[in-house]
Amino acid sequence: MPGTRGLFIPGPTNVPQAVRLAMDIAMEDQRAPDLPSFTLPLFEDVKKVFKTRSGQVFLFPASGTGGWEAAMTNTLSPGDKVLIARFGQFSLLWADMCQRMGLEVDIVDAPWGEGVPVEIFADKLKADTGHSYKAVLVTHNETATGVTSDVAAVRRAMDHANHPALLFVDAVSSLASIDFRMDEWGVDICVSGSQKGFMMPAGLAILCVSEKALAARKQANSLRCYFDFEDMIRTNKDGFFPYTPPLHMLRALRAATDLLLAEGLDNVFARHYRLAEGVRRAVSAWGLKLCARDPKWHSDTVSAILLPEGYDSAALVRHAYTRYNLSLGMGLNKVAGKVFRIGHLGDLNEIMCLTAVAGSEMTMRDLGVPVEAGSGVAAAMEYYRAQGAAAALKNAA
Ligand SMILES: *Cc1c(COP(=O)(O)O)cnc(C)c1O
Repeated sequence: MPGTRGLFIPGPTNVPQAVRLAMDIAMEDQRAPDLPSFTLPLFEDVKKVFKTRSGQVFLFPASGTGGWEAAMTNTLSPGDKVLIARFGQFSLLWADMCQRMGLEVDIVDAPWGEGVPVEIFADKLKADTGHSYKAVLVTHNETATGVTSDVAAVRRAMDHANHPALLFVDAVSSLASIDFRMDEWGVDICVSGSQKGFMMPAGLAILCVSEKALAARKQANSLRCYFDFEDMIRTNKDGFFPYTPPLHMLRALRAATDLLLAEGLDNVFARHYRLAEGVRRAVSAWGLKLCARDPKWHSDTVSAILLPEGYDSAALVRHAYTRYNLSLGMGLNKVAGKVFRIGHLGDLNEIMCLTAVAGSEMTMRDLGVPVEAGSGVAAAMEYYRAQGAAAALKNAA
């Protein structure tokens, strides 16, 4: 089909030209004496994206899922107890991995459309006076339902209970798009990946690990080899890797980090809020509802939109792709067939988001979903216009 495909899934996201070009390089020598002058500043700058000074960044050739495995095998032992809430496909898969790795997993099931149940966590942590929980796991942004949870509130609950467990956060679909504060929130391991907020292809698991979590690996006897922090620490300190690093991905990470820091993280977060809010205005104008049940859970990186009873969101996603060259996110697992998702993260602006809104609207009308032509587009564009006008007035002042 001529023209550009609209890519509005919540990852992989659009890769900016600067990042694509950064990867188009002749193969490099991974033991070259000047490699550290590239890698050491890269580690430092990626730390800024996590908002950490004392944390250590690890870059594994993997996707986010590999990052989960690295987090757990390096710090926990089989039989260790962890606390996790399950309220969407990604928190579900993380809990599942914990079980497969032989951990004792205390799973709190919350409705799909809500976030981490902080009060329940607080009660459980308070009751756990023997400190049997070794880690508390939080999915910052549940990509399946478009729900963002309050990581700082979980930290407060842990502190309030004086609980020494480690705090692990999956920020795969939030880091570099939604505010995340490793040090301020006392996060011990943050797991992310390259293909969402970092606007790169899939292929790098990007982790940040606190000193406390690094110390925990001394007691942790889970089997680990490829993902062992030890080998990384030993070689990374001089700017090298324990095995052949994917250098084109590191070059891409350099370019992506440069883009993020040049825009300014706060501006990146504000842009994601603005783009998301326009999509949310469109959803209201269509007379539809988000899967996220309360505004406090609205995700600025992905909106999961509930179709009215009797309409199949899988058919909608298929039709958008074949008829309009538009990729939207499907409903996963419990919300399969019920929701479709607009991913609005990464290298995006207002006009691009309007194509997703217009394409969704056309597709819904083709399928007979009763939405008024132009309603969502009008709501989103008027919101975007007003925001632009406010910014322009502020700049002029
Ligand atoms: C995408 C995603 C993952 C899985 O990452 P992969 O890179 O596909 O392994 C995990 N958690 C969340 C919240 C995600 O959005």
